[in-house]
Amino acid sequence: MDKEKMLSNPKETIRVIQENNFTFRKSYGQNFLIDSHVLDKIVSAAEIDSETEVLEIGPGIGTLTQYLAEAAKAVTAVEIDDKLIPILEKTLAEYDNVRVIHGDILKQDIASIFEGRHFKIVANLPYYITTPIIMSLLESRVPADSITVMIQKEVAERMMASPGSKDYGALSLAVQFYAEPYIAANVPPNCFMPRPNVGSAVIRLKRLETPPVQVRDEKLMFSLIRAAFNQRRKTLANAVKNFEGLSYSREEVETAIRSIGLDERIRGEAMSLEEFAKLADAL
Ligand code: SAM
Repeated sequence: MDKEKMLSNPKETIRVIQENNFTFRKSYGQNFLIDSHVLDKIVSAAEIDSETEVLEIGPGIGTLTQYLAEAAKAVTAVEIDDKLIPILEKTLAEYDNVRVIHGDILKQDIASIFEGRHFKIVANLPYYITTPIIMSLLESRVPADSITVMIQKEVAERMMASPGSKDYGALSLAVQFYAEPYIAANVPPNCFMPRPNVGSAVIRLKRLETPPVQVRDEKLMFSLIRAAFNQRRKTLANAVKNFEGLSYSREEVETAIRSIGLDERIRGEAMSLEEFAKLADAL
């Protein structure tokens, strides 16, 4: 498609919005991209080529979808807002490699859409549900090769954080258990319409074939992690003692902490993924 006619041209976005009497829904986290450099950057960070199949979450009026359709073999886009479906039919009419599904991404059986074929996930995510979407994709071990998404900058930094930093928490550990995160770009609010109140970043999560640590009971490890960061000012032993679903006494946790060579007064925020895995095994 002629670049001037693409939705990355802000005049085109305004025209489509006005002609269709579209009103932005804050409750759906609608901030549409209007910057061609950022769109190119997302496509290159995701390493899309003519062999790639893509799942796009939340196509909006189809801005990123047009860029993906130009570069990829095929694009499947899942959009929740019924008002956007007839608009997408028009803005994507030129592309015969795009399929739009009307629905909630959290309720889709993603694996069945691709029937065993390789695919990548790409999105400018609705910020109000970034963490639930990412966690549900990772925990369900969605078979995507990578996930490249625009998210709030602060959330991207939490995903990348290491022990001891203020951003380090349950999200960092969960993301790093399943994937290798990499921030490909920082994006200012003026690249969107309407402008969000926060800075954004493009992050790529490359799925790890095998987790970076071995643990016998993954569920227990993630419960310990949630307990640790639920009350991050407490020692880990105290935080675990009060956490629902875990039935260990403070003494039991302290003994297990000592048995893996750590100080019994340690807080979760100082512990690495490997140490949480060892502790789960010791318990
Ligand atoms: N991709 C477009 C772009 O970059 O201009 C729009 C991105 S906008 C930040 C997020 C989009 O996700 C909106 O179109 C919104 O309606 C859609 N959305 C919100 N919640 C959703 C959900 N649970 N499932 C699918 N789409 C959703």
